[in-house]
Amino acid sequence: MMSRRRAFAAAVAALAAVAAAPRPPAVPADRVFLGGRIWTGDPARPRAQALAVAGDAIVAVGTDADVKRYVGPSTKTVDLRGRFVAPGFNDAHLHFLVVDTVDLTGAGSVEEVQHRIREYAAAHPERPWVNGRGWVYAAFPGGLPARGQLDAAVPDRPAFMTSYDGHSAWANSKALQAAGITRDTRDPEHGVIVRDEKGEPTGALKESASRLVARLVPPPTAEERYAALKRRLDEAVSYGLTSAQNASIPAADLPAYERVAAEGGLKVRFYFALPMVKDIAADELARYKALRTKYAGPMMKFGAVKGFVDGVVESKTAAMLEPYPGGGTGELNWTPEDLDRTVALYDREGFQIFLHAIGDKAIRIALDAYERAVRTNGTSGRRHRVEHIEAPTRADIARFKPLGVIASTQALFANPDQNTSEVYAPTLGPDRESRAMAFRSLDESGAVQAFGSDSPVFSMEVLRGIYCAVTRMTPEGTPAGGWQPQERISAEAALRHFTRDAAYASFEEQRKGTLAPGMLADLVVLSDDIVAVPPAQILKTRVLLTVMGGRDTYRAGDF
Ligand SMILES: [Zn+2]
Repeated sequence: MMSRRRAFAAAVAALAAVAAAPRPPAVPADRVFLGGRIWTGDPARPRAQALAVAGDAIVAVGTDADVKRYVGPSTKTVDLRGRFVAPGFNDAHLHFLVVDTVDLTGAGSVEEVQHRIREYAAAHPERPWVNGRGWVYAAFPGGLPARGQLDAAVPDRPAFMTSYDGHSAWANSKALQAAGITRDTRDPEHGVIVRDEKGEPTGALKESASRLVARLVPPPTAEERYAALKRRLDEAVSYGLTSAQNASIPAADLPAYERVAAEGGLKVRFYFALPMVKDIAADELARYKALRTKYAGPMMKFGAVKGFVDGVVESKTAAMLEPYPGGGTGELNWTPEDLDRTVALYDREGFQIFLHAIGDKAIRIALDAYERAVRTNGTSGRRHRVEHIEAPTRADIARFKPLGVIASTQALFANPDQNTSEVYAPTLGPDRESRAMAFRSLDESGAVQAFGSDSPVFSMEVLRGIYCAVTRMTPEGTPAGGWQPQERISAEAALRHFTRDAAYASFEEQRKGTLAPGMLADLVVLSDDIVAVPPAQILKTRVLLTVMGGRDTYRAGDF
């Protein structure tokens, strides 16, 4: 590891020496960007004015005078006119391919939720099922939906709606019937069929209980997946994304990526995590390894597995050290013994591991498993990750750096919206709330923190995420001063988490995440210098140009 890094540093130094030498470069650039305010993320040269691109890589970074020497007869020049340039954004945790269904994102009341479902159902009479996603707990009195509310919108067909975080679901009476769920149905392992005081299923399903109905929903066709991928790619590049780390890839989605890649339309680089299966069969493990060999980057890369240690706060399925107000401590999806054995196996096989851990107990169990695996196997440099880390204890925050574990957090999780104030925070209780989304504490611990969106849980808009990490306020500016403001971080730190640190989290910091000679030409041009402007201006900042591998993937009409 160390020698590779040193060799790379030497190569960079050699290129930098070329840039500084008073003679024309051997190879002119394809394109130069001049007159900008460039944030490089490179500690050796944090700010620059200009850069030159040849093929898919950056060949020079420096002043306009430095970079003009790379201009040849066919070199194109982009005059940045003082615009801000950063490394292309990298979302370190999302679920990229989302097939279009009823979108309940932002619906704040039962009436609004029902209105959207009715409209969709009316527009799609041919669909045997009406399904959708994105409802928030706070939209429903009591914090959970009920089947009668869904029957009122869809009486004639089964209907099934997943919560915004994907950890709970809502079925109407027809869907419960189709799944054979009655008062006599027992809760599945790690799941809850929510029941009323008479013992009848209410239509709300937590964690694994959702699958009792979800498995009946007709899966999207290959054509629907392909169309959805293209739509999501267009959306991602409009936010400045050049890389995305896909925290899950169903096997049926891979052909869509392959098809778009074959057409030359893959505008975002992908790192994929496969499900972390307990006691994985030998042939399945062989399939994982074959994918890792076949896809080694830079456009598509496999090499990680992802497991869920616990659930989520709102449904009280996140595993906590102390009880929730009103009782219960949540539940671990694994016994510590199973988790230790499974983590050790993937660690030994050279996979990076993502562990979803939200409650303080789950975070501790995840760190324990990593600690034991590394000790047992004698491995190092695996860069295992904990995903979400919503309510960590102080003691566990301090363990990330010494263990070399990456803190994979989501900037917009700190958005103090209605769901946060009405359901999330009261469910945590005041002590855990004071430790929630501890971005600053994690930074101060010295851990590498990579930011993501968990899209479609939250929007992929990186600039909104940066604004949120900086202010911990809603876009409307509430609450004044921010939610748990002691955990605010600077715009520069947030930008680093979405670029260099995210690249580190997928072992790609030697090719991307900073703007320096030898790095991939992945960059974004913004209307404003987000590091320098007042935070409110970050929300008004626009993405003007996204470049991936030297190719323009998005350009605002007026740039
Ligand atoms: Zn996720």
